[in-house]
Amino acid sequence: MGHVKPIALLQRAIKNEKVVNSYLFWGNEGTGKKYVALQFAKALNCLETKSDAGDACDQCTSCKKIDHGRHPDVLVIEPEGQNIRVDQIRQLQRELAYRPYEGKHRVCILTAADRMAPHIPNTLLKTLEEPPLHTVIILLANNSRFILPTILSRCQPIRFHPLPIPLVSKWLMEGSGLDEAEAHLLASLSEGSPGKALEIQEEIRQIPREELLKEWVGLKVLSFEKIGSWVGSLPSEREGLLLILEVAKTLLRDLVMVKTLKRGTDLIHSDLVQVIEAMAANWSLTSLLKRMEAVHQTVIEIRANANTSLALEAMMLEWAEG
Ligand SMILES: [Zn+2]
Repeated sequence: MGHVKPIALLQRAIKNEKVVNSYLFWGNEGTGKKYVALQFAKALNCLETKSDAGDACDQCTSCKKIDHGRHPDVLVIEPEGQNIRVDQIRQLQRELAYRPYEGKHRVCILTAADRMAPHIPNTLLKTLEEPPLHTVIILLANNSRFILPTILSRCQPIRFHPLPIPLVSKWLMEGSGLDEAEAHLLASLSEGSPGKALEIQEEIRQIPREELLKEWVGLKVLSFEKIGSWVGSLPSEREGLLLILEVAKTLLRDLVMVKTLKRGTDLIHSDLVQVIEAMAANWSLTSLLKRMEAVHQTVIEIRANANTSLALEAMMLEWAEG
């Protein structure tokens, strides 16, 4: 699933018997860090000869147990509540004192390593400094900035970049059975993160995109009444509002695409192609780009904690100027 570099690196480590005791996988939320960590755990413990090539067979009992979360030597530690707690780490250390039960390696995946309760890093550090034999610890973090340098220095860092849109789209179709139009729409709004795409799926389904396009984004003349009623009707909760603005941006992007390129253009909202084509005819490219830029700026301001109503009003006043 993408991540050609991290996977190649880990496979090489297995092939050359250069697997280290501690890794840090870091990169945006939902970019597949946990997925790759579990694949790595499978490859390290696979019972088939393929494992010599650094690959998991996906068929043997070990691979299947890991897939079902039932392998005694593969531990996944998730935060309980907001953070990973100190007793979870203590429990882990007790487990690590024993040899692997049945696998070749004991693999411990610590999700949200950038969200550990205070004191934990010091407790964990002891384990990282003197790792038990046959143990591989993988820390997962969205942001390496929140990890203590002492911890960082003990791990081999592996960066996870956002995935290209077509790859996220393909993954959504194959893995979650979404149809092409929805997969492409979600992938386009996912910032390269399959996890985020799935997370926003329901919210996106709730957004009346056609109405948004006809009554707002693509409407040429905006009266003050219209602006007032729109600002009032949008969600006051920041994340929900930002998602609507992101959708608005992609609708404008599609209008621009239809305006500049001919039919059959790769649209994000391919299900609305007829409405978009009819609407684009009324617009000049300059006005569309100006409107798009205004949305973009507003998203940045709202992310930086600007007053949402004021930012939206300012945006739509700019839209109204044409
Ligand atoms: Zn296997």
